[in-house]
Amino acid sequence: MKTNVKAVVVGGGAVGTSIAYHLARGGWNDVMLLERDELTSGSTWHAAGLLPLFNMSYATTHIHQYSVEFYKTLEAETGLNAGFSVVGNLRMAQSQHRMDEYMLYASTAETCGVPFEWMTPNQIKDRWPLVRTEDLVGAIYHPTDGYINPADVTMAMAKGARQRGVFIERKLQVDSYHWRGSEWEIICSKMVEKGGNLVQSNEKITITAEHVVTATGNHAQRTAASLGIKIPAIPVEHQFIVTEPDKELVKFRELGNSEHPVLRDADAKWYVREERGGWILGPYEKNAPARFEYGVPDSFRADLFPLDLDRIEQEYLSMIHRIPSTEEVGLKDDFNGPICYTPDGNPLVGPAPGLRNLWLAEGFSFGITAAGGTGYYLAQMMIELSVTGSG
Ligand SMILES: Cc1cc2nc3c(=O)[nH]c(=O)nc-3n(C[C@H](O)[C@H](O)[C@H](O)COP(=O)(O)OP(=O)(O)OC[C@H]3O[C@@H](n4cnc5c(N)ncnc54)[C@H](O)[C@@H]3O)c2cc1C
Repeated sequence: MKTNVKAVVVGGGAVGTSIAYHLARGGWNDVMLLERDELTSGSTWHAAGLLPLFNMSYATTHIHQYSVEFYKTLEAETGLNAGFSVVGNLRMAQSQHRMDEYMLYASTAETCGVPFEWMTPNQIKDRWPLVRTEDLVGAIYHPTDGYINPADVTMAMAKGARQRGVFIERKLQVDSYHWRGSEWEIICSKMVEKGGNLVQSNEKITITAEHVVTATGNHAQRTAASLGIKIPAIPVEHQFIVTEPDKELVKFRELGNSEHPVLRDADAKWYVREERGGWILGPYEKNAPARFEYGVPDSFRADLFPLDLDRIEQEYLSMIHRIPSTEEVGLKDDFNGPICYTPDGNPLVGPAPGLRNLWLAEGFSFGITAAGGTGYYLAQMMIELSVTGSG
């Protein structure tokens, strides 16, 4: 195994994998990606895979827009199909106030070149008759986004990264970082399976690198402690449920109609998309509890928490209101996993405060949507600053 490289990226989720890929694509041919368990075993594997372009910030819109375009190119490059369903995204408004917000956003979309259309309640009803529209004022429709399989897109980026020379090492956990004047010394433990758990072995490996990027997802607090800095990002619980097939939806599709776009009710705070004849409901629930404030235990791997239906009752009822056929439909599956949040919901991307050649990519709550663009822009920043000597 190589132990001296130009850059080490820590964390093999969607974000870290994209950064490693883009550093290699930007010309750094000596990049290593380290993952303590398996690629995608953090939050990435259980994400719903939605790629919403809607965002009020110009910078974030550029990041998301890049991801959506980039993911469409990955199959041609790697031969791996990440299951990108370009079904569009319909963001509904229950009030004029909400429509005003969308109109304000439209200037960002226009500036960033994100295509969108306005829809009236009647236009929505004509196209998607299962959706109740009497209480809607309208909607903004993005035809070019949709959803993707998060694990598959990460694996496609990993394959692309390997093809470009990135070394990917799994079951290697970074325990500490030490700046040695001109490079970082990174002390790692080989991780081994013991009775289904992942534990540190006594085997230590030291890697040296000019640059380090951390993309450690829910492990941000442990990363912060080992770097001696503060990273204001902690995991909270986030759930989505999958329903049994909905007879009305199955009938609608058998008539030759195309798949519903991802539906978002911003006022009711949920998203819904089709899944094998049924629906996925993802609520932005109130009072979702924080988890692992002081660090993720080693015993927690690609695990989930128990479903808490009471917490999402309001959103569930609101889905039934919006799509009345769902009232008769049973629950098939549920996912309640950790998702990392920062106080303002934006990820922390860029140089770490006070640390030379140390870059953060932490605190992603829309990490599948943001991974592609974050990799592209962060790699660009690192490579450019390194050339100008100000990194
Ligand atoms: C239920 C649910 C639904 C979601 N739906 C969506 C969605 O539809 N769209 C969307 O964009 N986002 C969604 N998300 C959010 C998305 O899952 C995350 O934002 C994204 O996966 C974060 O990716 P990441 O690479 O930053 O972190 P992770 O995927 O958590 O990866 C971090 C990796 O770092 C590794 N690691 C940590 N510390 C170390 C160390 N010291 N040494 C080596 N390796 C280390 C971990 O093992 C892990 O594999 C959802 C989340 C949940 C919980």
